[in-house]
Amino acid sequence: MPTGKLLKKDLDSFKEALLERRNTLVGDEAKVHHSSMSDRHSDSRLPDDSADKSAEAYDIDFAFSRMESVEEEIKLIDEALVRIADKQYGTCIECDASIPKKRLKALPYAKRCISCKERFEVEGELIDD
Ligand SMILES: [Zn+2]
Repeated sequence: MPTGKLLKKDLDSFKEALLERRNTLVGDEAKVHHSSMSDRHSDSRLPDDSADKSAEAYDIDFAFSRMESVEEEIKLIDEALVRIADKQYGTCIECDASIPKKRLKALPYAKRCISCKERFEVEGELIDD
């Protein structure tokens, strides 16, 4: 058996981790929507109106940037799930090297090996996904 290759049970556990993470993110996204839409009106305990307004603006900014990254992460998770189905998972999309299991455990939707990731971060947009 070649070393570095992922076994079916590894794939199953990564898939499970990805789906679990996805569920958490989808739940979070719903929560962010909910709290920015309705909770504000019922909370009138703060006496200083101006302080309340700036806090609110900050909260909304935060919610928006958060939502963006949640969507981004869900997209990456979906792509990883497709790669599992296509048996491409755990293989670097740039150089076909096996992505170390340790890296996948830290980042289950990693699609590049560490050296390609470093190259990608340096070159930025040059490598097309
Ligand atoms: Zn690579």
